[in-house]
Amino acid sequence: MSNSPNNINLPRLKSTFEISSNIGKTKGGGLTRLPLSKEDKEMRDVFIGWLKESGLSVRIDDLGNIYGRRDGKNKNAGAVMIGSHLDTQPKGGRFDGILGVLSALEIIRTLNDYNVETERPIEIVNFTAEEGGRFGVPMVSSGVLTENLTKDLVYSLKDKEGITFEQSLEEIGYKGEVKNRFTDFNIEYYVEPHIEQSPTLERNQKSVGIVQGVEGETRFKVLVKGQSTHAAHPPSERKDALVAASEMVIAIDSLREQFKGLSPAIGTFEVHPSLQTITAGEVEFVYIVRHFKDDIRNKAIEIIKERLQESAKRRKVEISIGQYLEIGSTKFSEEIINLIGEGAKDYGYSHQKILSSAGHDAKYINEIVKSGMIFAPSAEGLSHCEEEFTSYEDIEKTANVLLHVVETLANKTSNSFHEVPSKGLRN
Ligand SMILES: [Zn+2]
Repeated sequence: MSNSPNNINLPRLKSTFEISSNIGKTKGGGLTRLPLSKEDKEMRDVFIGWLKESGLSVRIDDLGNIYGRRDGKNKNAGAVMIGSHLDTQPKGGRFDGILGVLSALEIIRTLNDYNVETERPIEIVNFTAEEGGRFGVPMVSSGVLTENLTKDLVYSLKDKEGITFEQSLEEIGYKGEVKNRFTDFNIEYYVEPHIEQSPTLERNQKSVGIVQGVEGETRFKVLVKGQSTHAAHPPSERKDALVAASEMVIAIDSLREQFKGLSPAIGTFEVHPSLQTITAGEVEFVYIVRHFKDDIRNKAIEIIKERLQESAKRRKVEISIGQYLEIGSTKFSEEIINLIGEGAKDYGYSHQKILSSAGHDAKYINEIVKSGMIFAPSAEGLSHCEEEFTSYEDIEKTANVLLHVVETLANKTSNSFHEVPSKGLRN
């Protein structure tokens, strides 16, 4: 399909991808472009060149986030922000995050090709260190900007060599100014295209994923305490922690039959002692409960707790259940969800509603700005690895849908000045 105001220029987007795929390239065909590394700096420099060539005004904030702004007819109207991240995991892929930033750039170039003037400004963003592969914590920039993390904490995060986030920012010359943060500008929408990281779209042979939100999760650590005995001890008198814990694992897993969409998982299971002729005195395991609806997740959690207590009683063991992580679910903006669906339909692309179980910057940003995500299929659902792959055919479709969403949002008239709500914790 040729370039028109309704279609991006795929050959151009392809050659942009090819340049990105060479910066930090690994032998296996992936990328190692760790946050704030010299490869990341090289990519950032090239990216800023592209932003300037496209006539955008460039800003860098104190976290190293890069923004490029294209003015609208109404300079003060709430802008539409689009993008993702250009950094990768060690031996990561060429698409995760990058798809979002480079498609955003292609949207700007297409609008420029046809001298399209929009009502509202459009802003591209490249978030620093979305990946936690170097500093341990993911989504740190959006985390600070939405006051979920403090700047002090993020600045002091260290990599394996003991180099801090702040030192690395300074070293590569990307420590900008607080006043350049997007939260100091009037931003009304954020749209992030991304690869799916699960095989749902590919299996269902759909090209566009209309992301409804991000599933919430709660994690628990369980300690089951019984009594170690010799295997010759009469079974009816045993307080076997392993048998009790096994019953608990089955009870947790079986709950997904009761609640549609519930995803319980047990990832660790430690038996003490672990000896052939001794029954276990202690078992420790962690379970995670995921569901898109917080109330259903909470109800499932209550039932799980009851069943574990019952098992413990029946098996004459003690149990302690400690919650150590809770992340609420995210529901993206209905307005953006509808526009993505409308775009996919108009272009005649196969599409489906989908949920994200992985976190993204949009998850945090949704707390203060109306946000949404478009997913592109990822081969076998693989990501964070060199095999990560999304076809150019699907990349084009994602970018065209993004173009539709951005043009529509950026042409909405706006009279009111939109204040970015703050949780009041400036840092
Ligand atoms: Zn990503």
